[in-house]
Amino acid sequence: MKEQIHTVPVNEAFESGDECPFCQLRRKAEQSAIRYALGPGASYMEPDVRGETDRQGFCGEHMKKMYDYGNSLGSALMMQTWLNIFLEELDKQMDHYELPAKRSLFRKKSDAPDSLADWLSRRTGTCYLCAKIDYNMERYIATFFTLVKEQEFRDKVASSKGFCLGHFEALLKAAPEQLPNAQREWFYDTVFRLMRENLARVKGDLDWFIEKFDYRNASADWRNSRDAVSRTMQKLQSIYPADPPYKNQ
Ligand SMILES: [Zn+2]
Ligand SMILES: [Zn+2]
Repeated sequence: MKEQIHTVPVNEAFESGDECPFCQLRRKAEQSAIRYALGPGASYMEPDVRGETDRQGFCGEHMKKMYDYGNSLGSALMMQTWLNIFLEELDKQMDHYELPAKRSLFRKKSDAPDSLADWLSRRTGTCYLCAKIDYNMERYIATFFTLVKEQEFRDKVASSKGFCLGHFEALLKAAPEQLPNAQREWFYDTVFRLMRENLARVKGDLDWFIEKFDYRNASADWRNSRDAVSRTMQKLQSIYPADPPYKNQ
């Protein structure tokens, strides 16, 4: 089975006590994609990889992470060949550009699409790293829905801290297709309970974090609230804001 190689990391993520096991899997997938692209293997020098980076480019968020990772020569080489192709295409696009007519009340929007702007948005709207990460995340979600057939895994899910909103959404979208019939009730009961309980818990930590700024609570215990801001940000937007930049060792 193709999902087999993913069962170990998925099991580990559900044992980790993270605010969202899928965030943790995504972080690992992202770091390994960055390491693959720019790390010691120098795969950016392989023609098939460069073909893909030339085609897909990188999003702004990942350019920043590539910048932080180091190996600026690697980033420079990939941007150089991306630009070689892009500049040729841009020339053609601009050569054939027709001035759009001023928008009138009687002309439908679809009559004259602004093709250069559309082309630009397509050309800058894809990312080699996002695509690699998305591919892995789809496999992890599929593995989750395979593993829920096992009681042992269901117990791990039931005692986890639930999911961030984005990965809750991803599970809900995949469930109608991928959730085995026998686990339907278990899944919705458990996941809804986890989301209710754990969002309330994190909100409670955040409330206490704020209370701690009251001088009357200055000497009170922090309880679990010291990192409440970063954990709340993760629950809301699937990020680890406290992570240091991931760097080439
Ligand atoms: Zn998540
Ligand atoms: Zn990206």
